[in-house]
Amino acid sequence: MAETYQQQKKKAHAVCVPFPAQGHINPMLKLAILLHSRGFRITFVNTEYNQRRLIRSRGGLDSLPDFKFETIPDGLSSTDDAPADATQDVVSLCDSTRNNCLDPFLKLLKKLNSSDNSSSSSPPVNCIIGDSIMSFCVVAAREIGVPSVCFRTTNACCFLVNRNFTLLKQKGLIPLIPTDSTTDHSNGNLERNLDFIPELKNLRLRDLPTFFRTTDPRDELLQDFVMGESERASTASAIIFNTFDALESEFLNSLSRICPSIFTIGPIQSLIHQLPENSLKFIGANLWTEEPECLRWLESKPPNSVVYVNFGSITVLNQQQLIELAWGLANSKRNFLWIIRSDSIAGDPSVMLPPGFLEETKELGLIAKWCPQEQVLNHPSIGAFLTHCGWNSMIESLASGVPMICWPFFADQHINCRLACTEWGVGREINSGNLERNEVEKMIREVIGGENGTSMKKKAIEWKKKAQEATGIDGSSFLNLEKLIKGVLPN
Ligand code: UDP
Repeated sequence: MAETYQQQKKKAHAVCVPFPAQGHINPMLKLAILLHSRGFRITFVNTEYNQRRLIRSRGGLDSLPDFKFETIPDGLSSTDDAPADATQDVVSLCDSTRNNCLDPFLKLLKKLNSSDNSSSSSPPVNCIIGDSIMSFCVVAAREIGVPSVCFRTTNACCFLVNRNFTLLKQKGLIPLIPTDSTTDHSNGNLERNLDFIPELKNLRLRDLPTFFRTTDPRDELLQDFVMGESERASTASAIIFNTFDALESEFLNSLSRICPSIFTIGPIQSLIHQLPENSLKFIGANLWTEEPECLRWLESKPPNSVVYVNFGSITVLNQQQLIELAWGLANSKRNFLWIIRSDSIAGDPSVMLPPGFLEETKELGLIAKWCPQEQVLNHPSIGAFLTHCGWNSMIESLASGVPMICWPFFADQHINCRLACTEWGVGREINSGNLERNEVEKMIREVIGGENGTSMKKKAIEWKKKAQEATGIDGSSFLNLEKLIKGVLPN
């Protein structure tokens, strides 16, 4: 076995390019680690801005055998003077990466393939794995004559929704809520189902991506971006998804009719867990510094007693939402671990939490800026996850058997919320239009200790088992990774 990997190593050099946001870097890094464990030489390409953050949060970048980090600029002019720990504006990043990254990326490929680099220890690049919204990677791969793989870090259902954009537009449903209120295309009924698309019939108009809704120039830019990227991603040699067959069988069947070369390899973190100790499975790519004391604190709490509150790396709450959420948590009288990033509250961060809140909850809660989320979700004391429904958070929660309280904010999060609540039976949607503390309190009590909570937990454990089956030996995701390595990537 070891010899085969060694032989592969002489030939295979994969360049992995995530979109420059935490929720895209994490799954791409995991894929890179999996390929490395199969003998691939890896070049992992960050933007210069994120590489600086990564070095800061980890206190340096380790020199790893056959695994190198390289950078390209993200093309944003404001990058140099941006605050150290700030999430970059995602819309600007989308626009900038699609317009500016191809040339520097081609230069990097040329450097990697130059005779100085191409030696037996660093073979020429022979495949490119790009995020599906970094589709310049597909163009670059074509230019240097190697296969390209697109990694979609959202689920199959979201891709299917995007693929129906033109139909939705033809039906006059995009934008959903035009600025001209006399032509409300939804007929004022955002609860209406998408029954004219059989495989999406259980989604409602209000579950569609938020940037499908308005004629705001930033939303229109995103529509154009997502459509263009989806089109180009479909011309890659293969598309991979961080999902698994049992979870999204109907959506995947539909997709396979339009995109034949699809590989589901999720939950990708469960494939990583099976790697041997001497692999690179412990390297991480957090842009914020983790606070491991969260895990120590969880040790002191009884099983299934803690609500874990985390809204990912981009979402920003306003002061009112923060106050209602804080008192909802306090009034629920349940233990809580609440992650508040340094840039996650709009306005003056020094007046963040309501007066009296910390004193009242000092026995119940812990607040931190960033935590090792996968470990937290796998801790037995976690009883529920109050989440913004980012796809990584959701699939990490499913893989850990943790029920969710869903508070979606933007992009695909409403779709994910709908799936968790109605298709998979592991979520309850919080009425977030005008978030109120009573609603938060009621929902937490229901999921931790309430009747609904018991059935949700049961469902969540069932999904955890199915995720384990998919990623175990001979499971669908495990075999798909094999097929990808043997059938699409050079070996
Ligand atoms: N994450 C983490 N610690 C935190 C917050 C988030 O490790 O305190 C990780 C989380 O495990 C997930 C990613 O950051 O892998 C967030 O991605 P997601 O798709 O959930 O949300 P996004 O940040 O893209 O909105």
